[in-house]
Parts: sequence; C-alpha cells; structure tokens
Amino acid sequence: MAGDNGANLREAETAWHAQTAEATLSGLATSADGLEPAEVETRLERYGENRQRPPRRRSRLERLASQFHNLLIYLLLLAAMITAALGHWIDTGVIIAVVVINAVIGYIQEGKAETAMAAIRGLLAPEASVRRGGQRQNIDATRVVPGDILILEPGAKVAADVRLITARGLAVDESALTGESVPVNKQVDAVAANAGLGDRLSMAFAGTLVTAGEGVGVVVATAEQTQLGRVTEMLAQVETLTTPLLRHLDRLGRQLAVIIVATGALTALAGVLLHGFSPVAMFMAAVGLAVAAIPEGLPAIVTITLALGVRRLAARNAIVRRLPAVETLGAVTVICSDKTGTLTRNEMTVQELQLADGLHTVGDAAAPGGAAMPLARAVALCTDAAVQRDQAAGIGISGDPMEVALLHLAESVGVDVEDWRTRYPRVDSIPFDSGHRYMATLHDSGQGQWLVVKGAPEAVVPRCDRVLTDSGTVALDEQAWHRHAEQMAARGLRLLAVAERRSDDGTMAIHGGDGPTALVLIGLVAIIDPPRPEAIAAVAASQRAGIQVKMITGDHAVTAAAIGRQLGLGDETRGVTGDELEAMDDDTFRRTARERKVFARVSPAHKLRLVEALQSDAHVVAMTGDGVNDAPALKRADVGVSMGRGGTDAARESSEIVLADDNFATIEAAIHEGRVIYDNIVKSILFILPTNAAQALLLVIAVLVGIMLPVTPVQILWVNMITAVTLALALAFEPAEDDVMARPPRSAAATLIPSGMGVRVLLVAALMLAGTLAVFLREQALGRDLAEARTLAVNTLVLFEVWYLFSARRLQTSALNRSGLSGNRYVLLSIAVIIVAQLAFTYAPPMQVLFDTRPIGASDWLLALVVSLPVVVVAEGHKAWQRRCHRRSAESMRS
Ligand code: ATP
Repeated sequence: MAGDNGANLREAETAWHAQTAEATLSGLATSADGLEPAEVETRLERYGENRQRPPRRRSRLERLASQFHNLLIYLLLLAAMITAALGHWIDTGVIIAVVVINAVIGYIQEGKAETAMAAIRGLLAPEASVRRGGQRQNIDATRVVPGDILILEPGAKVAADVRLITARGLAVDESALTGESVPVNKQVDAVAANAGLGDRLSMAFAGTLVTAGEGVGVVVATAEQTQLGRVTEMLAQVETLTTPLLRHLDRLGRQLAVIIVATGALTALAGVLLHGFSPVAMFMAAVGLAVAAIPEGLPAIVTITLALGVRRLAARNAIVRRLPAVETLGAVTVICSDKTGTLTRNEMTVQELQLADGLHTVGDAAAPGGAAMPLARAVALCTDAAVQRDQAAGIGISGDPMEVALLHLAESVGVDVEDWRTRYPRVDSIPFDSGHRYMATLHDSGQGQWLVVKGAPEAVVPRCDRVLTDSGTVALDEQAWHRHAEQMAARGLRLLAVAERRSDDGTMAIHGGDGPTALVLIGLVAIIDPPRPEAIAAVAASQRAGIQVKMITGDHAVTAAAIGRQLGLGDETRGVTGDELEAMDDDTFRRTARERKVFARVSPAHKLRLVEALQSDAHVVAMTGDGVNDAPALKRADVGVSMGRGGTDAARESSEIVLADDNFATIEAAIHEGRVIYDNIVKSILFILPTNAAQALLLVIAVLVGIMLPVTPVQILWVNMITAVTLALALAFEPAEDDVMARPPRSAAATLIPSGMGVRVLLVAALMLAGTLAVFLREQALGRDLAEARTLAVNTLVLFEVWYLFSARRLQTSALNRSGLSGNRYVLLSIAVIIVAQLAFTYAPPMQVLFDTRPIGASDWLLALVVSLPVVVVAEGHKAWQRRCHRRSAESMRS
C-alpha cells in the first residue's frame, strides 16, 4: 500500500484540495491519530527531510567578482593599464598584486561574515506540532513527513503543505506565497480542482503563518514538493550584507573619489605648468594621490567588525536576524518590554484564591481544601497544559506556565485532571487571545453541556451574573469582586477569574455575538510570578545608560505597577490601561507615552501606536513581542525583539533580534555589545583617516613645491592596503570601554565622526605629514639616495600608525596606562606582524624590487621612532583637552 501512495505523491499535481479530508487521509495511508513511529522512519527515508532550500547564497565566483566592482578598483586597474602602456612594468605588477590581494582579503572576510550569519540562522530551527500514534508532540520541522498530522495554532509557521481535516476560525497569512496580505479564512470542504493557490481554502501551505483560530491538517507535501519549494524566484533572492553605515561609507567613498580625481588632475596640471615636470611623472603623482586619499580598507574593516559583533551577540543569547540591527542597537533610547517571562521568571505558583466564602492563602495551614474543589475541576477542563503520570517520577505538567500552576493546584486538592478530562470530553472551544483575554471550553457532561471560562477578571466578571457558593448560587456583586481583584493585584499577583455555565438540555452556541454571558463566577485565582533578579539589575543598568525602560503588558494595571515597582521602574501604583490609551487624543497619547512607564491591559494595536508615538519624539525604540498580533509593532520598532523559546514564528519573522533565553537582561547585554561594536567602528575610522589625509597632502605639497615625491604610489598602496588594514583590524576586537553603559545613547542623527574628533584627525594627520616630510627632506639634504630616503619616509609613516594605534584604542579616555597599552592582545599581535612586514619591505630583495626600497641602518630606525613617537602626545593631549572641556561644560550646567 505504501508503494501506491508513494506514486501518488510524486505525481505532483494530485489535487488534494479537491478531495475530501477522509479521502486524503486514506490516500496518504494515515489517520487522524497520525503515523506510527516506525512508519515515520520509513517515510523519512523515502521522502527525505522537510527542508526548504535556504535563500541562495552568492556563488564563489560572484562573490569574488563583486570584490572588483568598486569605483576605486576601476581607477586602479585603469592606472595599471596606463603604467603598462608606459612600460612601467613593476608599478603595473604591484598595482595588480595589491588589487588582487585586496579582493582576496575581501572575499575571505565576506565569506566568513556570510557563514557566521548562516550559522546563526541555523540556531533558529523551526519546530512543528504533530500528532503521532495518538500523541501530540513538538518536533523539529525538518522531521515532518507526508501523512503526518500537523496541528496549527496562531502564530505558528506552517511546516509543510497540509490538507485541513479540522478548522475552527482558522485564518492564515499567505503573503509569503501569494503576496496577498489579508489573511485567508480556511475551511475543510473540498474546493474545485482548478482553484488557484489563493482559493484553495481546504489547504494550508508551508511557509505561511497562522494568524487566528485552530486547525489540524494532514501533510501532503514536504520540502521541495511544497508550493513554497516550487516558487523558485522567491528563493533566488540573494542575501546581501549591507547596513546603513556601509551604504553611507560607500557613498562617501564615491564622493571622495570624484573630489580626489579632480584634485589629482589639478595638481598634476600645476606640476606640469609650474615646474615643468613630465606629464608621465605627474600622471603617476595623480594616481598616487587617488590611492593615498581613499581609505580602501575601511569597508572591509566595518564588515568584519559587524560580523564579529554578530558572533559576540549570539554568545550572549541575542540572535541577530538582520545585520543593520547591530548598528541600531547602540542607539536605542527606549526599551519597551513585555512583562511575563521577559521581566519576570515565568515560574508561576498559585498563591491566593478568592472564593464566595472569603480569601484563602494556598499552601498554609488554612488551605482552601474542599472549598476550592469546584474551581479546581473547572480549571482541569479549561486548560491546554498536558499532564503525564509516571510511576517513578510522579506527575509532570507541561505547557503554559500559568496553566501549569493551575493544574498543580487542581492536583494538590485532589482532582485527577486526566480522569476529569476523559469524563467530560471537550466538544468546542474559544482559544485564549490577548485581545479578548479569556479562554472558554465546552464539555459534554452526559446529560447536557458544561461551559468553563477562565480569563482576566475584567474580561470575565462582567460576563457573570451569579456567584457559586457552598449552597448554590447567589447574585453577583460586581463591584465587590473588582475590589477583591484590585487588592490581590496590589500585591503584584497575576489574576484569573474562573466561571462556568451548565445546561441540562440541548447544546450551547459559544461562537458569535460577544462571547459567553450569563456565567456563574466560581472565584479568582492569584498567581505569583516574581521578577527575574537579573532583570532588576539590567533595568538599573539601562537607566544608568540613559535608556528608558517601559513595561507593556497584557496583565492587570495594578499587578503590572506592583511588579514595575519591584523592578525599579518608578513608583506608579496603577499602570495606564489600553482602554485609557484608546480614549486619548494624539497629544495626550504622546505625552503619556513619553512620561509613563507601565502600560497594562494593552492590546497589540496599542503597542504599535506606542512605538509610533515614541518615534515621533525622536526616540529609537526597541520593542519586544511574542504573539502573532505583535508583528506590526515589531516591524515598526527600530529594533524588534522576539522570543526564541516562548514566542511565535510570526513574531520571530518580524523581528531583528531573537532572544534565545527570552530574558530582558539579554536586551541590555545586546545594547551593550551594540555600543561596543559601534565604538570600534568609529575607532577604526579615526585610526585610518589621518594616514590617508597625511599621504594625500604629502603628494600635493611635493608637487606644488616642486620636490620629488616622498613616497611612491605603490608604496602608498602598501601602507593603505596592508599596514593600515592589519593594524585597524585589531580594533575590531577591542573590548568595551569602562563607560559604555555610563553614557547616554548616541544620537541616531550623529555623524560617523563624533563632534570634536575631526580636530584630532587633522592634528594627527598634520603631525604625520610634518614628520614624514621632515625626515625625507633631511635625507635629501644630506645627499642620500632618493630610494633610501623614500624607504625611511615610508617606515616613519608606518611607525606613526603603530604609535597612534595605541591611542586609537580609546575614544575619550587615556590610553597611557597598563590596560591601555596591553589590554588588547590583537593590538600587540598586529604590531608584531607589521614589524615583520616592514623588515621584509625594507630588506627582502624581491620586495626591494617591487617597492623600490633600500636597506636602511639602525640610526635611521631610531630617527623614525623618535620622530613618530610624539603622535601619542598629540592624540592623548587632545583627549585630555576634550575631557577638560566636557568637565567644564558639565560644571557650568550644574551651577
Ligand atoms: P505580557 O504581555 O507582559 O506577556 P501577559 O502574559 O500578562 O503579559 P497576556 O498573555 O495578554 O499578557 O495575558 C493577559 C491576561 O489574560 C492575564 O493577566 C490573564 O488574566 C489572562 N490570561 C493569560 N493567559 C491566559 C490563558 N491561557 N487562559 C485564560 N486567561 C489567560
């Protein structure tokens, strides 16, 4: 039989959507209880793993080719052609060698960055809920096979193409497949065989997202056989590693190139006209100028720093889904966080029960016992958490932590949850939703039906008109119950109201209208979910770093405020509620968003409005979310943060960062890393720019004054592409500065080079220029060989870079201390590499041929060392001066 349906499946166009659910099940040789484990293995073997082809990565050749696709490289290649035409073969060779080395370095580094990103995506392996052998299981989505029974819940990504066998209010967002963004309502009836993809209402397709309702389907196609697998053009999208910063740099590079070419041409013209230099020599000078001024190595350094950052973030449990987020993280000014599970531990225990006969504390001598029985039975039915009874291990309860707490309570007062569930089978349900905030289940009670509802007191109590007591039911005093709820909430407890309705005759319709009404209230349950200790520390750290923290929760306004106080979010006694937000005009809304810290009973739509209001106040917003409906707010936020454990696929797909541990402290750690990464990029830029400026000026001055070029174009290429890059790379590994989380966030509008730092670049460049020129002129004056003088000039320039590297490790603080000198071993390592490289450059015969260098003596080295050392004094002096200015302005602000 298995052979037959194998043939069926390979016949790609079996129109399962046009068959009945039963026909599909039998056609696939399975049942609603799912496949048996042995059959699963057989099918896995036959159909292979259920993997969607990953987005296509660029081929090696494409990646290599893209390294040459750069204006500067074109300029260099043009220069190589002209030098070749002029017969300057060595220059041609060196230019080409440098271009190739640069491309190879770029290629390798980009490859590493891409691999790092791909590996991180691997951490986000999707899961699927299936029914196999009658048991519900959560499995790795790659293990799904045709014939599996897939369970669909809101927020989940459909793991394979399924023919639906049940669908309750099921709606699916198929935009990934059809481009249609309005969710499609699904049903189980067969549709016409020739229906288009969007009209196959009896199917759910791999890669689409469940937005509402529940459903169960039988898998008809996996992996490449799915509709998604067949849409090749979608998967052909090439991923690129680019961020606003990289684009900014790219644009800057192009603008710079134009200016440089113009300056080069003018300088060359001036050389020919004023000093009668030969056009060939002037052409070489112009090429040198172009090469000198452009920081060729910078884009590679930035990419590498970002890629290293992604790895460091992953090590701290923050998985980056989109590279630009790494940059944005460092600029975050407000974090809007969920409460449950992110700020709190999500380890829940029932603490108090409010029943008609009074308040009971759970777990002490006056335990509720018998009085709690009706409530315990009701929650046994109105929960989805699963109970496993094991002879050895006792009972294990798994599922939503709040439901787990409820079932522990039920078991502790003597309700056998499984037995109860078998006696009163569930016939219908309204799943919990953060919009209506309750869950209802309908059970067959033998003679009639039994409806159980549990949810937020504000959502449930108004649906009740009576209260259950030992002796029947009495009229409900709604105000009194709301007061009870507030008192419990003020203790930071999470609340739940439980209610029921029984009918001895006929059936109840629970769907439609405004939901269940005329209920009998059984009681209130108060659950403790303490704040995470590390979240308290992280909130404090964020606030010190000038980042506001706001709590946005679905919980009760008073509970939320109480937890907020424990977390150090301020002293509000009642959070702003979603209803209150709803009633506000735009101005009040914005002011409230700015000033208040705790937002309660908030629905996902309010979250979106809150993000927008904060952004209109020039805030950079990080927002957490886990539900399906959080997707718009996550997309809108500057950094959308989703949960790796508790969240839905829908939320993860819309987020930039996924928290592997669902922990608020991880957001703070990620911001910390984001700031370090950005700092390191700025440090690289501040390090590299002075060398470029100094070299370019050196050439311009030489030509205008009419002296020999102190360094040749190929020597400049060496300095820019080999020494500067190697040294700057060490800054990508720079550890955090002491004050990273003690200063305010950088302004999102801030320029790449922080204000005041431009002066440092110019000062250092001027010193490099003066020192190198002075050494060169002195050697010339002493009548030494030109090539020897140039060798010394290049070595002086490189030593300037080496000394300056120490200072560049710190943006503001002094580097003249132990940690400043030895705190980053990559700095020492890269300096060692450069010393070896310079010795080779100076003494190795092949290098002497290529770069026209000559051996120099010990006294020359000493001279270069002494001339270059003052760069540390200048850079550190500038820092000290800046620090004094800051102190002064801070003091004057205070007084
Ligand atoms: P956060 O948004 O910070 O995660 P939350 O988990 O409290 O907070 P929701 O999940 O929207 O937010 O829950 C809001 C309220 O709905 C809860 O306080 C509780 O009263 C009720 N509730 C939560 N889960 C369920 C459930 N499974 N069944 C019934 N009611 C629930």
